Amino acid sequence: MLYNCGMKKIVLASGNAGKLAEFKSILDDYEIISPSDLGIKFDVDETGSTFYDNALIKARALFEICKLPTLADDSGICVDALGGAPGVFSARYSGGTDKDNNAKLLAELKGKASRAAHFSCCIVYYDGTRIVSATGDTYGRIIESEDGEGGFGYDPIFLSDDLGVTFGRASAEEKNKVSHRARALAALREKLGALAKS
Ligand code: IMP
Repeated sequence: MLYNCGMKKIVLASGNAGKLAEFKSILDDYEIISPSDLGIKFDVDETGSTFYDNALIKARALFEICKLPTLADDSGICVDALGGAPGVFSARYSGGTDKDNNAKLLAELKGKASRAAHFSCCIVYYDGTRIVSATGDTYGRIIESEDGEGGFGYDPIFLSDDLGVTFGRASAEEKNKVSHRARALAALREKLGALAKS
């Protein structure tokens, strides 16, 4: 069996297999593991009012449990005409499913001239003393009705400026080139590289 002896271990505060794979592929100088790899069940209330606050709450809480460097992210969609809502409430906007969230957002935007929106993601690294954070955004607009079956969450109603199609119509590979999470991860990779040299 091969061990990653030289690679720094970082625990990601998520049980989502897709997220873990994306973090592993971009932060490939590190050994990214999940709480379940350590036999830990991790769940914490996201009580912050910003993506940064929530990511930091999760990164700190996980560090207190495992005493290893941690990473946590928080993300959501922010709609200009709604003053940035649903923002940190994206997952629980309607209290129902992703489809219910999309239906609520479309109803809120009925008759509004501006439909500009962006997804935002903040990732925080915490090692007990140092906090490193990075943010990524991706811009577009909310269309009138769902288009596409791919992705998750608000993807079917988000028309990406970069791709010219909704995230619901884009392949995972296309979306991962321009997504808020990919951009935040790329920025974090740079910052962690600089931290390692300091
Ligand atoms: P989380 O921070 O990854 O848990 O995401 C919070 C919520 O934001 C999700 O439940 C979705 O409603 C929304 N969201 C975040 N990223 C995306 C995305 O890439 N596509 C669609 N919805 C997203």
